[in-house]
Amino acid sequence: MTDHYDAIVLGAGAAGLKTAWQAGLRGKRIRVLERSNKAGRKILMSGGGRCNFTNLYVTHENFVCSNPHFVKSALNRYTAWDFIGKVIEHGVPYHERKHGELFCDNKAKDILNILLDECTNVGVEISTKCDIQSVSAVKDNIYKVSTNQGELTANAIVVATGGLSIPSMGTTPFGYEVAEQFGMQVLPLRASLVPYTFDGALKEMFARLAGNAIDTDIQFGNTTFNEALLFTHRGLSGPVVLQISNYWIPGQPITVNLLPNESVMDLLINAKHETPKALIRTIINKHLPKNVVLELEALWWEPLKDKPLADCSNVQLNTIAENINSWEIVPAGTEGYKTAEVTLGGVHTDGLSSKTMESKTQPGLYFVGEVVDVTGHLGGFNFQWAWSSGYACGESL
Ligand SMILES: Cc1cc2nc3c(=O)[nH]c(=O)nc-3n(C[C@H](O)[C@H](O)[C@H](O)COP(=O)(O)OP(=O)(O)OC[C@H]3O[C@@H](n4cnc5c(N)ncnc54)[C@H](O)[C@@H]3O)c2cc1C
Repeated sequence: MTDHYDAIVLGAGAAGLKTAWQAGLRGKRIRVLERSNKAGRKILMSGGGRCNFTNLYVTHENFVCSNPHFVKSALNRYTAWDFIGKVIEHGVPYHERKHGELFCDNKAKDILNILLDECTNVGVEISTKCDIQSVSAVKDNIYKVSTNQGELTANAIVVATGGLSIPSMGTTPFGYEVAEQFGMQVLPLRASLVPYTFDGALKEMFARLAGNAIDTDIQFGNTTFNEALLFTHRGLSGPVVLQISNYWIPGQPITVNLLPNESVMDLLINAKHETPKALIRTIINKHLPKNVVLELEALWWEPLKDKPLADCSNVQLNTIAENINSWEIVPAGTEGYKTAEVTLGGVHTDGLSSKTMESKTQPGLYFVGEVVDVTGHLGGFNFQWAWSSGYACGESL
């Protein structure tokens, strides 16, 4: 019976390690199987190497999920402060950046070490370079896992294989396949928290502006984010773009407000009265970088570029103002999984218990972390989901 476990966790990422640690604390015999050569590789590369490990202001509204209430129970049972408590206990220095985002002062490895130390302390066994060939339910409440390192059995299987982003890290769709094998629904998958690409003239314009960052609002449907937008050689990036990509429907326009704190119409009309000889460019230059304004001028008011404001009609100024305050553009696509931080979609939450993460139809089969149809906003929310869903699962194994 040496190769029989209370639970086998597939994937030694954030959610798998948190699950194993939590179940180990309760005296469970846990084995974690990891395909790559080391645990927690995405943690190491996260947050630019400093791991944005949680956020001070986590609510269910920071998550995209086909059932917006699904995340509530797990988030309430294991909060950001529970994880912060562990970070403090382990003496890991951290700091807050904007919007409550918490990052390590030193390196992301500090967070991985917390997870690995806690797993070691409670006797969790972790196997790396482990290729899982199959998972099957052999008899009531017993699962068999066949791997390149032999066969193992367990009372429960926890699928924590993550999403598809950054394929160079050896990501696999295995978790989704296990769900389907056991008759569970997997919602369509898409790269998210990802930059946009553009074609044609817009692509060329954005490439000329590559490296410039401006504060903008971007709206899609009823959702708006206000953060920095970054022009790139392929299109648009920056936090505001990544955030809206969680909501965007391919083929549809997004609305960009290039001057979210100003009514451009008011600016231009006031200037027309106060400085009638001024050019439109001169007024907008006060609020946006000059090279950005030159590109906008070529796009929207080339025929008026040398005319004083006094010679521009209010209708013309209004059209320019509307363009700057609500510019509708249709991205050609996204940079895809190669640069995406997360995968939208995944195992349908209707098939899972929100209290335990166990399948409602297949007892003993659990799904945690990113493989589930739960995607957080940028800002530490995805790791918080890994910790909270891992805790919920680990408590019920
Ligand atoms: C560049 C980048 C930066 C990010 N920065 C942040 C950040 O700062 N803050 C934040 O909250 N989120 C961040 N994220 C998102 C975050 O990393 C993920 O949401 C989180 O890692 C998901 O945890 P997980 O355990 O579900 O999946 P993962 O951490 O991806 O772990 C899954 C594990 O399963 C293993 N695996 C896959 N298939 C198999 C298989 N068939 N057999 C065995 N093992 C398998 C993988 O090798 C991996 O180790 C970032 C993502 C990226 C790509």
